[in-house]
Amino acid sequence: MKIIKHEIPEKLITEDGIRTDGRKPHELRPTKLEVGILKRADGSAYIEQGKNKIMVAVYGPRELHPRHLAIPDRALLRCFYRMASFSVQERKSPAPSRREIELSKVIREALEPAIFLERFPKTAIDVFIEVLQADGGTRCASITTAALALADAGIPMRDLVSAVAVGKVDGHIVLDINDLEDKYGEGDMPTAIMPRKKEVTLIQLDGRWTPEEFKQGFELAIKGCEQIYQLQREALKRRYLEIREQAAKEMEERAENP
Ligand code: ADP
Repeated sequence: MKIIKHEIPEKLITEDGIRTDGRKPHELRPTKLEVGILKRADGSAYIEQGKNKIMVAVYGPRELHPRHLAIPDRALLRCFYRMASFSVQERKSPAPSRREIELSKVIREALEPAIFLERFPKTAIDVFIEVLQADGGTRCASITTAALALADAGIPMRDLVSAVAVGKVDGHIVLDINDLEDKYGEGDMPTAIMPRKKEVTLIQLDGRWTPEEFKQGFELAIKGCEQIYQLQREALKRRYLEIREQAAKEMEERAENP
């Protein structure tokens, strides 16, 4: 029988300000974003942020079932956040948990202000979020990735949504907390913004923060979201260039074999 070990670190941050994964307090985890991963979905995106691996597929705007849920003057945005049973060390129950239902709501509320829902009355926009591997901060990584998948689906948006969690760890305010820091730190503050409109669409606060710590944390979260926004823009640009190249190739082929 394999015994699951929990390594509880003595310190989450050294005197030199180095964290359990080698990062400095104000550093993001290595983050990779890709757009247009799934051919069948209307839009899709994938993120690797540290050990987090999350896939998002978007369908819609499309006919809504059951019909009675339809809203006469706008689209219904539905988010389904799910963590795979193998995504964490202890096997997670495959049944939808209270946490997954809550995070689905939190993610929907963070994305809603960015979408022109009023342009698609009575329809549904469905956002499926599958967490393949979880290591803290998955709600924020899901929001960041879902915003890209919505853009990839061609859904008209006021802005992207960029998200990251800051935390309080051994008295330090740190950016983009991992699972250990989430579990054994003193608090976390998941934050999402519409970066061009400079509007906050999500802020949650857990633990005890003094007003000064909150201010520092909030400023750091905004800086982190702005870095995430740059990565999102680069990922969208790569996708755009890919589509353009593909279209040019297809036109060339058609010209050669009319
Ligand atoms: P977030 O992922 O947004 O930080 P939580 O604070 O609820 O959301 O979760 C923190 C981390 O705890 C997750 O990213 C994951 O690594 C871990 N976790 C969540 N649910 C479970 C579970 N059922 N079993 C084991 N680990 C879990």
